[in-house]
Amino acid sequence: MDRIVLKNMATKLKTEDLAKRMHIHKDSDFYDELEEAVEIAGRIARPGAILKWVDVNEVGEDYAVVDGVKFESKVMANNLRGLKKVFFFVATAGGEVQDSREIDDETGVLKDMITSSILMHTYGALMSYVTETFGGHNVAFMNPGSLPDWDISNNFALLEAIGGVGEELGITLSPAGYMKPFQSGSGIIFTNESGYTNCSLCKNLDCVGRRAAFDEEEYNKIFN
Ligand code: SF4
Repeated sequence: MDRIVLKNMATKLKTEDLAKRMHIHKDSDFYDELEEAVEIAGRIARPGAILKWVDVNEVGEDYAVVDGVKFESKVMANNLRGLKKVFFFVATAGGEVQDSREIDDETGVLKDMITSSILMHTYGALMSYVTETFGGHNVAFMNPGSLPDWDISNNFALLEAIGGVGEELGITLSPAGYMKPFQSGSGIIFTNESGYTNCSLCKNLDCVGRRAAFDEEEYNKIFN
């Protein structure tokens, strides 16, 4: 069992949580719109993910070979050194909410918040699945495109190695390597005792899914 496909995962959306993140007061008219959109999204969204349990074949100074694929990245080499197995993963909020005509959202803000929230929950469910099923404790992940030394074009090799990403989850790649549906993520999940958090090295400062503050000192130490 080296490949696991999780389809139609629960969205776990809660109007109150989204309202809090969007600073929407319960008495405002917009709250009712949000509540309706959340109800529709919960009904139509089809988030999903694929995990692939793969071998770490070789780790050099600034590269790692995983599942036969060579990735040039010093950060990855540091993270995977000493590990025998890791997971490749891809996850998506699905395209149903963004494509929906049922949700009345002229600006697109509601749909963006809802789909980013669905993706966050999907990531959470994926991590829980990995720790509960495989007994790992301190798991961390890294994503192509969030670090200067593992750019977005690595998605081509990563998604090809995972396989069936278009057929199973409807994900496609732009010529540069960005995924569609936009609210999708990919990367490598690995065990890590030192508390590595990809977010602390990611300069996407507006990201609503951020789980650790940007660490400028560490970033400069590694990349400058
Ligand atoms: S800050 Fe956002 S984009 Fe950057 S690694 Fe964290 S979750 Fe991903």
